[in-house]
Amino acid sequence: ATFGNLSDRLADTFRNLRTKGKLSPADVDGTVREIRRALLDADVALDVVKDFTGKVRERALGDEVNKALNPAQQVVQIVNEELIAILGGEARRINFAKKAPTVIMLAGLQGAGKTTLAGKLAKWLAKDNHTPLLVAADLQRPNAVQQLQVVGGQAGVAVYAPEPGNGVGNPVKVAKDSIKWAIDKQYDVVIVDTAGRLGVDADMMKQAADIRKAVDPDEVLFVIDAMIGQDAVATAKAFQAGVDFTGVVLTKLDGDARGGAALSVASVTGRPIIFASTGESLDDFEPFYPDRMASRILDLGDILTLIEQAQGAFDEEEAKKVAEKFRTDSFTLEDFLGQMQQLRGAGSLKKMIGMLPGAGAMREQLDNFDEREIVRTEAIIQSMTKAERQNPKLLNGSRRVRIARGSGMTVTDVNQLVQRFEQAAKMMKTVARGGVPQIPGMGPI
Ligand code: GDP
Repeated sequence: ATFGNLSDRLADTFRNLRTKGKLSPADVDGTVREIRRALLDADVALDVVKDFTGKVRERALGDEVNKALNPAQQVVQIVNEELIAILGGEARRINFAKKAPTVIMLAGLQGAGKTTLAGKLAKWLAKDNHTPLLVAADLQRPNAVQQLQVVGGQAGVAVYAPEPGNGVGNPVKVAKDSIKWAIDKQYDVVIVDTAGRLGVDADMMKQAADIRKAVDPDEVLFVIDAMIGQDAVATAKAFQAGVDFTGVVLTKLDGDARGGAALSVASVTGRPIIFASTGESLDDFEPFYPDRMASRILDLGDILTLIEQAQGAFDEEEAKKVAEKFRTDSFTLEDFLGQMQQLRGAGSLKKMIGMLPGAGAMREQLDNFDEREIVRTEAIIQSMTKAERQNPKLLNGSRRVRIARGSGMTVTDVNQLVQRFEQAAKMMKTVARGGVPQIPGMGPI
């Protein structure tokens, strides 16, 4: 995962801290130094790191930590709060125009993921009862228009494109005409995809600025690939100077890059990150929440996104039923199987497990996670009797042997499944009752 290494380093730092009762100034300095190194190694921009560690140090030496019952935990809390601040603080959502259509323009380097994002955003908006129109104003890259048409087809939304053969035409005119078209056909959101280059270049910047002038967008989203590393900050500054933008979208957060530079973008440009893109499929897309991202980086878990994605994967009635079952402690292995089968459709189990608190410690297993695991789990549960699925307490030794034999698995596999089920049910019960799950070794956050 993108912030895996940073996460591991910070976890180590906090683990060392946790063995201490009171913190001396030397403890604080040592911790701050380690955080600083971890952030720099993750490619977070130097200015951002300096500012961040300065604030953490000042607060960690102050009264709030001195007087805290658990000073180490208080330091984690401070790091969490300051991390949220560099990621932009409050979550920011799209500003919709008072009078339709809302115009959203996308800008960024070629390959950043703009066209893919256009499809993701359109699909997401359509789900929310909007009627988006995608506009192909990238007339530079061969096939860009066609790619947008394909993406539009996948998202099930309309695409406005120049007539074939007219492709060498004028992107500013295409963008401008598309707005008239949208008003005429009553589309309520217009998403304008623009051309990028492999590097920042004056012509591209001018074209993007001209399109901006022509369509007067409500939002200009700067799309940036989290994998481009240290160039992220310079690229963001160039786009801010050349076109300016109202928000940032981080893409390819599913990659293995260090990603820290992308984390600096909000802080360096003063523009909020609004969305995150986490894969090639159109559903790999989420609104960005600074607090949730900070939790994920600090491995405090991202339960809220987890629940939302689970709800997205199930229908709403089903989700309500399941939540009620968790709350009342009547969630059974049969329900577990039902959920797994639905999840397989969603294909995102791995990503979801990654959002659990403490998932960082399981990162290696997660990376080796195999969706065939679901098939094995199914085999085990299907070898149980109905009574056993309803009440796992019935599962004594001889029953487990029978189930292992029936499913072609070992007794250890059966034991592990039952144990996992019980842990998940317990944790979800806490969440469903509005609590915060305990994080092993840390106490409630
Ligand atoms: P554009 O040139 O900015 O329009 O970029 P594209 O939308 O064509 O994306 C470039 C490549 O990146 C394509 O192969 C996409 O499938 C891929 N891509 C886009 N977003 C993501 C993402 O979030 N994760 C991953 N892994 N790949 C992505």
